[in-house]
Amino acid sequence: MAEDAESLTATRRLLRRLRDIMAGSGSAQERLDRIVKIIAAEMVAEVCSAYVMRAGEVLELFATEGLRREAVHRTRLRVGEGLVGVIAATARPLALYEAQLHPDFAYRPETGEEIYHSLMGAPLLRGGRVLGVLVVQNKTPRHYSDDEIDVLETVAMVVAELVASGELVNPFEIAQARTGVTPSLRLDGIRLNPGLAIGPAVLHESRLVIRQIVAEDAAAELARLKGAVAAMRVAIDELVAASEPLGKGEHRDIIETYRMFAADRGWVGRIAEAIKSGLTAEAAAQKVREETRTRMLQVGDPYLRERLIDLEDLANRLQQHLSGSDPSAALPELPPEFVLVARTLGPAELLDYARRRVQGLVLEEGSPTAHVAIVARALGIPVVGRVEEATRQIEPGDIVVVDGDRGQILLRPGEDVYQSVAAAVEARLGQRVYYESLARAPAITRDGVAITLLINAGLPIDLEQLEATGAEGVGLFRTELSFMVRNAFPDVDAQTAFYRGIFEQAGGKPIIFRTLDIGGDKALPYLDHLEEDNPAMGWRAIRVGLDRPALLRQQLRALIRAAAGRTLSVSFPMIAELSELEAARALLDMERERAGSEGRNPPQSVEIGVVLEVPSLLFQLEALFARIDFLSLGTNDLAQFLYAWDRGNPRLADRYDLLSAPMLALLREVLGRARDADVPVSVCGEMAGNPLESMALVALGYRTLSMVPSAIGPVKAMIRSIDVGSLERYLDEIRGRPDHTLRTRLEAYARDHDVTLPE
Ligand code: PEP
Ligand code: MG
Repeated sequence: MAEDAESLTATRRLLRRLRDIMAGSGSAQERLDRIVKIIAAEMVAEVCSAYVMRAGEVLELFATEGLRREAVHRTRLRVGEGLVGVIAATARPLALYEAQLHPDFAYRPETGEEIYHSLMGAPLLRGGRVLGVLVVQNKTPRHYSDDEIDVLETVAMVVAELVASGELVNPFEIAQARTGVTPSLRLDGIRLNPGLAIGPAVLHESRLVIRQIVAEDAAAELARLKGAVAAMRVAIDELVAASEPLGKGEHRDIIETYRMFAADRGWVGRIAEAIKSGLTAEAAAQKVREETRTRMLQVGDPYLRERLIDLEDLANRLQQHLSGSDPSAALPELPPEFVLVARTLGPAELLDYARRRVQGLVLEEGSPTAHVAIVARALGIPVVGRVEEATRQIEPGDIVVVDGDRGQILLRPGEDVYQSVAAAVEARLGQRVYYESLARAPAITRDGVAITLLINAGLPIDLEQLEATGAEGVGLFRTELSFMVRNAFPDVDAQTAFYRGIFEQAGGKPIIFRTLDIGGDKALPYLDHLEEDNPAMGWRAIRVGLDRPALLRQQLRALIRAAAGRTLSVSFPMIAELSELEAARALLDMERERAGSEGRNPPQSVEIGVVLEVPSLLFQLEALFARIDFLSLGTNDLAQFLYAWDRGNPRLADRYDLLSAPMLALLREVLGRARDADVPVSVCGEMAGNPLESMALVALGYRTLSMVPSAIGPVKAMIRSIDVGSLERYLDEIRGRPDHTLRTRLEAYARDHDVTLPE
C-alpha cells in the first residue's frame, strides 16, 4: 500500500513536469526532446524514445534520450516492422524482459541499441488512431510491472497531445498515417453550396477539449467523477423511464444496454484508477475512452462495434457532465485548415469557425435555405448536407473531401485520390486568383458588347463583394435573409437601420430590394404558418405580404426611410397577376404619403419592378410593362413552374434543362417585348451565374445579369472571350431543334471558339 502510494506520487510528479514542459516555451521538437529526457530519468530507464507516424505508415524516430542522436529523423520503421512497429500495429503496449529474443526485433545499427535488453513501449493514441509509439529501454534485463506499463500509457497520452497538435508533423500527414482499420468511403448528401474542399475533419459537437490533463488533487477529482457519474445515471434513468410508454422493442433494448454500461463498475473503476495516477477526471475518462475505442475498432463484429458507439456516447455524456462543454472554447486548438462536421450548426457558430479557415462543411441535417447554408454561401464555403450519420462515421482528423458540386463527401481518400483532389483544389484556387485579377477589367465581349454584371445579396457580408468583384450593383437583394437569421421580427427602426447600412455599403451603386419572399421553405420561426403540401406554390412572398399588409407596409416604410435622398428600387416577388402588383403598389404609395406627411426626406426617386417567376404573368406582358420601371427574371422559380418541375427533388434533377427550346423561346420573347416597351430587364436566377447558361442569355440579347458574387469572375471571363455576333448566329441555327437540351451543342461551340469556361 505504501509502495503504491509512493509510485502514485512519482507518477503525479512526472505528469506535472510534463505539463510544465507542454505549456512552456520552445518549439514542439525542443519540448519533445525535453519530455523524453524527463521520462527516461523518472522511469529509471537508460533510453526513452518517441516515434511519430509519418505518411505511408512509417514510424520515424523523432526524439531520444539514450540512443544515438544521429539516428533521430533517420531511423524509420514500417508499421508491423520491429517491436515499435508491432506496438503501432496492435495499438497495445508491450513489455519485454529480453527484447532481442523477440521474433520481431529489428536491429538498427545507427541507433546503438544493441546494448539494451529490456523494452517497454506504448502506443500514442488519439481518436482511436495510433499517432506514434513511446518506448523506454533498460540495459539490465528487468521485468516491467503492470503499474509501470500503466504509467507509460498515461505519459503516452501527454505525448500524443503534442503530436496531435500538428506542430511536429502537419495534420494532413497525421490523418493519412493510419493503421488501416478505416477504409475510404463515399457518403451521399445534398448540395447546399457548391465548391470543392479537402482537409482534416473537426467534429463540432463531440470535440471535447481537455484543457487540463494533470490534476493536483486526486481526491477532489475522484469526488468530481463520483458526482458526474451519479448525475449521468439519473439522466439515463430518466431516459429509460421516458421511453417506457413507447412499449417494448429494439429501442428499449438499446436503452437498457446503455444503462447497463453506465452502471458498469469496470468502466468507472478504470477511470478512477487513471485519476489516481494523476490525471484530471476528464483526462482519465478520455484515457479509458481511447483504450476502449482502439481495442474495439479492431473488432470486426458489428454488434461489438455498435456497443462501442454506446460507450463513446456515454463517455461523451460523462465528459459533458464533468465539464459542461463549451464548443467555442476549443477554437484555439483547431488545425490551420479543416473541414467541419456537425449534426447541425447555427450561422453564428459557422462565423466563429470561419475565422479559423474552415474549408468545407458537412452536416447531417440542413436544407438549402438553412441559415447556416446561407451564411456558408456568403463565405464561399462548400457545404454538403443530409449526410446520414456523418458525425458517427467521420473521426476527428480523418481527411474529408467535400464535393459541394455533387453533394457528396469522400472520407479517408487513398493517396492517389487525395493528390488529385488537392491538385483540383489548388487549380480552383489558381482560377480564383485569375478571376480576382479581372475585378477591374470591363465586362465587354470581343466584339465590343458591354454587359452589366450585378450581384445577388442578402447579408451585409455580401456587399463587401461589390468592391472585391468589381460588380456594378446589386441586382437582387433578398430581404428575407436578414429576417431568417434573427429570432424575432425586426421593428421598423431596426429594418431602417439595416437598409441604410446596405445603401451605405453599396456606396452609390444601384440596389434592387426585393420585398420579403418568406413562406414555403423559407419559414420564419416567429411567423405562424401552416404545413403545406406544396410550399413552393403555397403561401409565400407577395401572397403573405398582401395577406399581412402590416408586415409589408413596415418593410416598405423602412425602405423609404432608409433611401432618403437616394433612388429606391423595389421589386415584388411571385407576382402572378396584375392586381397583386396594383395592391402592392398601393401599399407603397400609402407609405410614401405617410413619409411625406411626417416631413421625412423622401427618396430621390422610386422605381417599381416585379420578379417574373410565375408563368401566368407571361400572358399579361404588355399591361405589365406599362406599369413597371424594370423587370427581373427569377429563372429558378420560373423554370420550376414552367415545367411543373420541383427543382428540389433529386429524382428530377436532370429531367429538364434551362438550355432547352421552350425556356430559350420564353426568354427571347420576354426580352423582345421588354425592348418594345423600353423596360430594362435583368436575369437574377441562378442561370445568370452559370457561365455556359449566361453565354446563352447574352446570345439571346440579355445585357444585365445578376448572380452570386463568386460567379462574377467566371462569367466575366466568359464574356471577355466571346463574339456575340457569331454566337447569335449559332443560336439562331440551333434553336428550332427538337433536342431535349441545347447544352451539348453550346458546349461544343464554346470549345471550338475558345470560350473561357471553368474547368
Ligand atoms: C428565382 O426564383 O429565380 C429567384 C431569383 O428567387 P429565389 O431564388 O430567391 O426564389
Ligand atoms: Mg424565386
